[in-house]
Amino acid sequence: MRATIIAKPGDIRVENVPDPEIVQPTDAILGIVATCVCGSDLRDYRGINPVDEPHPIGHEYLGVVEEVGGEVASIKPGQFVIGSFFASDNTCPNCHAGYHTSCLHREFVGGAQAEYLRVPLADGTLVALPEEPHEEQVASLLACSDVMGTGWYAAVAAEVNPGVTVAVVGDGAVVTERGEEGITRIRELTEGVGADSVLECVGTAESMRQALRSTRPGGNVAFVGVPHDVQIDGQELFYSHVALRGGPAPVRAFLRELIDHVLAGRINPGKVFDLTLPLDEAAEAYRAMDERRAIKVLLRP
Ligand SMILES: [Zn+2]
Repeated sequence: MRATIIAKPGDIRVENVPDPEIVQPTDAILGIVATCVCGSDLRDYRGINPVDEPHPIGHEYLGVVEEVGGEVASIKPGQFVIGSFFASDNTCPNCHAGYHTSCLHREFVGGAQAEYLRVPLADGTLVALPEEPHEEQVASLLACSDVMGTGWYAAVAAEVNPGVTVAVVGDGAVVTERGEEGITRIRELTEGVGADSVLECVGTAESMRQALRSTRPGGNVAFVGVPHDVQIDGQELFYSHVALRGGPAPVRAFLRELIDHVLAGRINPGKVFDLTLPLDEAAEAYRAMDERRAIKVLLRP
């Protein structure tokens, strides 16, 4: 099959590799319908994360089930399915609590920018669509696999509800002012108090500081950007009266709900994709995002 390999930072190749096979009886093999490039893939591409050896990359996927292992009960060949970047059993105490990314049996799902993908714990990880999606629904359904699910978790974790003031600290055109300027602007907008809910979606020391200082006493900060060199001052946190909740988004907890919203036409998160390329042009997809010519690139095998 064709698969996207990161050989080293800045070096993305689409190569012929062996097809994935059932390893555990709880596995499924998917034929990938659509996949995409994540901001966290870009951290590997930019060398912010070490790339010790060439490896397959990608963790967002909409696929059709090709084959299942002998112990898979609910997922069937031919179904169109979406899963998250961590496989989870959906049965352990952490899954029952809604924290599937801390599943006691979790496994990272990697190598999704390819023609086929092995997904462990298929019954717990995958959510089947009621029927084959329409072409115009593909991008929005794919977005549920990570980017939409992560944003949704951030809103839930920051206790966003009707009537609250929300600030998003993002990496792009979300909040124009950054750092101290951003903090000042949010305080001006909130009569000097700060926002009720702040969603920190970057993971740098500056963005975390901005999020904490933009939140009112008693407010909530959700942090879903993978932290890099973030340190929180205990004294400042103590006197801020701010609640913190974040971590790798348990997308699986929200997948069914998000899929229903997409199929009903209530949300259209596929708008985040501003470029679609064939899988064989994955290297151009990374370049386009790295150079900010594209926000997020969808890949079709
Ligand atoms: Zn679990």
